[in-house]
Amino acid sequence: MVASVNAAQGFDPSKPAMTELKDGVYQYSQFFYNSLVVITDEGVIVTDPSGEARSKMMRKEISKLTDQPVKKVIYSHDHFDHSRGGQIFKDEGAEFITQEKCTELLSRDLEARVVQPDITYKDHYSVKLGGKQVDLHYYGPNDGDCMSIIHMPTDQVLMGVDWHLPGYVNEPYRLTAHNYVAIINTFERVLNELEFDTVLSGHMPASSPEAFREDYRFNKALFDAVWKGMQEGKTTEELKEAVRLPEFSHWRGYKENLPAHVERMSYSIWHGN
Ligand SMILES: [Zn+2]
Repeated sequence: MVASVNAAQGFDPSKPAMTELKDGVYQYSQFFYNSLVVITDEGVIVTDPSGEARSKMMRKEISKLTDQPVKKVIYSHDHFDHSRGGQIFKDEGAEFITQEKCTELLSRDLEARVVQPDITYKDHYSVKLGGKQVDLHYYGPNDGDCMSIIHMPTDQVLMGVDWHLPGYVNEPYRLTAHNYVAIINTFERVLNELEFDTVLSGHMPASSPEAFREDYRFNKALFDAVWKGMQEGKTTEELKEAVRLPEFSHWRGYKENLPAHVERMSYSIWHGN
C-alpha cells in the first residue's frame, strides 16, 4: 500500500511482526495487514487470515508463543483479501465467526479460498476463551455491509479494519465499498459506547486513541466541507477542486488522493451509502 516509502526506510512488509499490546494480546503484522491475536491457556483467537501465505506465517509465529491450537477465527468483514486463507486454522479445528450479512458475500468466492463461517450474529457477539473476551458489534453499514467492530472490554483494546486508517488518505480504488456517512456513525458510536486505551488498525503499522480521534476528525472535517459545498450548490467536480483540509496535509496520500475522497463523500451524502 505504501511500499516505496517504507522500503526507503528499510522496512520489509513481508517480514512477520508479532507485537504484544497487552498480556496475551498481540498485533500480527505482515504484507500491510494486521490481525488481532489473543493467546490463552485454552486456545488462541485470531482475526482475518488475509491470504494463505500470511496465515501460514502467522501460524508459525503463534507456535513460538504457545502450543495451544487456534480455536476461533473472526472475520472482520467479507472482503476476500482479508477473509481468504483460513484453511490452516480450520484443519486444527477452529470455529469461524462473522456478522450474518457476510455469509452470502463470503460464499461468492469463485476460487473457494474462504472457509465459510460456523457462527454468525446479528447485533452483538462475545467470543470467550480462556478468560479473554473479544466482543463483536454490528453498527450497520461501513466499509461494506457486514463490518464487525472488534473490542475487548476487559483489555480495553479496539480494532478498526478498513474504516480506521490513521494518518493515511487511502487509495481511490479502495473506496468502492466505503460508506462515508455510515463510517462517521460508526466512529461516533464507538467513541460514545466503547472504552479503550489501545487501538489497532487493520492496515496501518500502529494506532492509538489519539490517532483514532484524529481519524474521526478527518472524516468529520471532510463531511463538513463537502456538505457545506453541496448546500452552496457546488457540483462534485467543483468540490474535488476546491476542498482542502490543511489540518491533515501531512497525512500520507493527502495531495494525490483527497479529491477521490471528496467525490466518495459527495456520493455517500447524495445516495446515503
Ligand atoms: Zn482492508
